[in-house]
Amino acid sequence: MGEQCLPPRDCGLCPRLREFLAEQREAHPDWFNAPVPPFGPDDARLAIIGLAPGLRGANRTGRPFTGDFAGHLLYGALIEHGFARGRYDERPDDGLELMDAVIINAVRCVPPQNKPLTAEIRACNGFLRCELESRRTLRVALALGKVAHDAVLMARGLVRARYRFAHGARHELPGGLVLHDSYHCSRYNTQTGRLSEEMFHQVIADIRGELG
Ligand code: SF4
Repeated sequence: MGEQCLPPRDCGLCPRLREFLAEQREAHPDWFNAPVPPFGPDDARLAIIGLAPGLRGANRTGRPFTGDFAGHLLYGALIEHGFARGRYDERPDDGLELMDAVIINAVRCVPPQNKPLTAEIRACNGFLRCELESRRTLRVALALGKVAHDAVLMARGLVRARYRFAHGARHELPGGLVLHDSYHCSRYNTQTGRLSEEMFHQVIADIRGELG
């Protein structure tokens, strides 16, 4: 939270991603093309942890889950369960407002083929740790997919084997943070039937029940 948790626009910790961003800046000078900052209020109780910006989604628009398919399912569920208000319209100026929730990507820069390398997940983990540690109101984290789940554990200095990822799982972490897991709300997962709209809404409903 705050400037200390934001990587610089030209963060050089991941040379491959820096190079990929440079290519995108050349090809699409009107896109955001930089580390994507969190979206949501500083005093949120819920942190939703995504994987990384989508090339034509957050990397283009500068707001997490904005401009690609995953945003429809995520923001639709957040609106339905009172964690957002307004209308999601795939644009950062659509007026959508998050309430008591913040979205943070485990990796801030767009990776080729949506696949960050392990070294890149590690390199960016300090920024996630900073966000999780500095947000004193946080009570629940929702990991969208196993990479996000593992990134939260890494940020907390916890052993992965003790907290296995599973859709719908709930883990009580030391320090008071509760970690919920969901399959990522990607087009791939919904098209292959791994994640249905009902399954995803149930996870958000469970968190709403927990936070009241
Ligand atoms: S992914 Fe994170 S650590 Fe890597 S270059 Fe981008 S901001 Fe820096």
